[in-house]
Amino acid sequence: MGKRRLHYVLSTHWDREWYQTFQDYRFRLVKLLDGVLAGLEEGTLKGPFTTDGQAIILEDYLEVYPERRAQVERYVREGKLIVGPWYVLPDEFIVSGESLVRNLEWGRKVAREFGAEPSNAGFVCDIFGHNSQMPQIFAGFGIKAGFIWRGLNTIQTRHIRWRGADGTELPCYRFGHGGYCSYAFAVRHALEQTRPFDPEQTLKDLEAFIRFEAEHTEIDPILLFDGGDHQEWDRRAYEVLIARSEQPDDAYEIVHSSLDAYIAEMLPQAERISTVLEGELREPGLECADIDQQWLIPGVLSSRVWIKQANAECQSLLCQWAEPLSAFAYAALGRGYPQGYLNVAWRWLLQNHPHDSICGCSIDAVHEDMKYRFNQCRGIANRLTMDAMQKIAASVRGEVAEDELRVTVFNPLPHAVEETAELTLQIPKDWPTFNEFFGYEPKPAFRVYDAEGQELPYQRLGQAMGRTKLRVYYDRFAHGYQTNDVRVSLPLRVPAMGYTTLTVRKGEPGKPTRHPEVPGLATSERSMANEYLDVRIEPNGTLTLTDKRTGQSYGDLLTYEDVADIGDGWYHGIATNDQAFVSTASRAEVALVHNGPMLTTFRVRTTMGVPAEFRFDSQTRSERLVDLVIDSLISLRPGADRLEVQTKVYNEADDHRLRVLFPSGARTQVYLADSPFDVVERPIALRVDNHLYRELEVETKPQQSWTAVFDGQ
Ligand SMILES: [Zn+2]
Repeated sequence: MGKRRLHYVLSTHWDREWYQTFQDYRFRLVKLLDGVLAGLEEGTLKGPFTTDGQAIILEDYLEVYPERRAQVERYVREGKLIVGPWYVLPDEFIVSGESLVRNLEWGRKVAREFGAEPSNAGFVCDIFGHNSQMPQIFAGFGIKAGFIWRGLNTIQTRHIRWRGADGTELPCYRFGHGGYCSYAFAVRHALEQTRPFDPEQTLKDLEAFIRFEAEHTEIDPILLFDGGDHQEWDRRAYEVLIARSEQPDDAYEIVHSSLDAYIAEMLPQAERISTVLEGELREPGLECADIDQQWLIPGVLSSRVWIKQANAECQSLLCQWAEPLSAFAYAALGRGYPQGYLNVAWRWLLQNHPHDSICGCSIDAVHEDMKYRFNQCRGIANRLTMDAMQKIAASVRGEVAEDELRVTVFNPLPHAVEETAELTLQIPKDWPTFNEFFGYEPKPAFRVYDAEGQELPYQRLGQAMGRTKLRVYYDRFAHGYQTNDVRVSLPLRVPAMGYTTLTVRKGEPGKPTRHPEVPGLATSERSMANEYLDVRIEPNGTLTLTDKRTGQSYGDLLTYEDVADIGDGWYHGIATNDQAFVSTASRAEVALVHNGPMLTTFRVRTTMGVPAEFRFDSQTRSERLVDLVIDSLISLRPGADRLEVQTKVYNEADDHRLRVLFPSGARTQVYLADSPFDVVERPIALRVDNHLYRELEVETKPQQSWTAVFDGQ
C-alpha cells in the first residue's frame, strides 16, 4: 500500500446571523477575509481557503471593500478562494425543494461571476437533518459527493453511501465526533479560549488526530477539515501543520487541499464504502457527547412560526404567481420577461434561508431583519403578478361598455377549478344602489355574467361603501376615486393555468339585484352539510365531520392542546412538572357568518384558560390562568369534499406551546408527509429504543404542507 493522502481543507463555518446580528458577524467576516487575503499575498497560506460552501460570504465582504474585487477574482480564478456551490447554507426541510434548487443555481451563478467554476462539493455540514431528495438535487447540478453530519449516527467510519428517494447514490463524508469542528476542537483547542498556544502540544495533538481519522476512514484519502463556527485562520496551528507536511513520512502525504480534490480521490473508491443509508436522514443524536456530538435539533420546525408562514407565502407568490404569470404574458403577448426583478426578489428570499435564520433560532434582532427581506420579496412578487395579470386582462378581446366592469379571474393551479370562489368587486360609486324595506343600508345593484354571457347567481357576503382608491399614471399625477366594494361568492370555471373573464353590469336604480340565498348549507345553528360532508360544531368548539360517501365520522377535530414550553429556538422544552390543557374541555361561542348556497361559514371562538407563564423559580406552570382566545372561520362550499378553516390566535401567555389536533382514528403504523420533491413515509410511533438516545426523539416531524394517514377504510 502506498502513502495515504491527508487532505487538509481550510475553511470556516459562517452563520451569517445568529447569536449576533448580521452586521456584527460581518465585522468579523471582513477581518477574517482580510487575514486570508494577506496570507495569500504573503505566500504564508499555501493552499486554498474554502468559503464554507456559500457564495454570499464574498458578496458580503466586497460590499464593504468593492475596491478589492479584482484581487478576490484573481484568487478565485487561481483556485485559492473556493466559492459555492450554495448561495447560503439553508435548512433542508423548512424551505421548498424549488428554493433549494434556486439557492444552488444562484450560488453557482455568483461563483461564475467571480470568474471560476463553483465548488462541486455537496457541503451541508451544519444542516439540521437531510431531506430524501438531496442526492438527486445535488446530482442534477453535477455534484457527486456530500459532506454531512447531523441526522445520522454513523461514527465508526467516515463515509456512507446515501441513497436518495429516486435511487441516486451520493457518496458522503460524515464528519467525525465534533462534526465540522472536530479539528478545531482536537488540534487547535478552540473551545479553550485562554489556553496558551504550544506548538509541541499542537503537533502531538495533530499526530493523534491523524491516527484517529486514519483508523476511522475506510478509503485511502483522509480529510482534515479545519473550520469551526466563525473561526478565523489560525496561523500558528497552520504553521505546525505545514511544517509537519514537509517532514518525510512513509505513511502519509499531507496536502493543503480542497473538498473538490478530496472528492476526486474519494469517488473512484466509493465501492469500498460499506455503510449504505436510504431516504431522509433524521436520526436524533445517539452516543454520549464525548463520543459524538451530532444533534438533529428537531424543535426548529415551528420556532417563530411567523417566519415559516412568511416564507411559505413568498415561495408561493414567486413560484405559483409571479413566475408563471410573467411567463404567460411573455409567451402570449411578447412582454419582456422580468428576470431582473425576479432575481432581486429571490435574492431577498434566499438571504432568509440560512439555517439559523429560517429556523428561528437566532436573537430577536436577526429575525427583525428578516421581516424587511420578506417584505421586499413579497412586494416585488405582488407587483410582477399584478402587472402580468393586468397585461393579460387588457388583451382580452371585446370592448368594455361604459356601464360595465371586466373582471379576469386567474387560476395558477395545474388543474381546472370548477367551484365557488370569493371575489371583491370594486363597484363604481356612482352606480345605483337599492334598499331593503325602507332604507337602513344601501346595497350596490349589479349583475354578473360569465365569458359566454350567461348570468351568474352570486351570494353577497359583505360590503364596504365609499372606499378610496388610487389610480397611478406613468406621466400624470395619481388620481383618487371611490368605489363600493362588494364581496361575493359565485360559481366559477377556470381552466388549468388559465383565466376566465366575467362582466359586471350596472343594475337599475332602486331595483334590487338579488339571487336565491335559501337554502344555505347550514342545517342548524351549529351544523352544515353539502353533497359530501356533514359538519357539526360541538359546544366546546371541536368539529364532528361525517363523510356521507362512506358514513365514517371523525370527532374532536380542531382540538387545541396547550403545554408548557421551557425551551428555546432550537428545542421545545418539555417540563417535568407540566399540565396539558385541551380545548375539548373549554367553552366556545359559535356564530353563523354566511349562510348561502355558494358559501356557508361559521365563526367558532374557543377560549381556553391557560397558565400565564412558566414559573422558573418553582419549575411549574403558574396558577394564574389567562384567556387564550382562538378564532376560527369554518367554511363549506357546494361540491367540495373539504372543509376550510382559517384560524387566528390571540395569545397573552408566555412559555407555552399550542398545537391543533385532528384525531383521524385510522388504524395504521405509518403516515405520509410531503417533503421537498418527495412524499415520505414515517412510522407514527417513536423508535422503541428512543430512551437510549442522548437527544430526545420527538413526534413533531417536518411537513411542507400536508400530512396524511390512511388505513384502507
Ligand atoms: Zn451553522
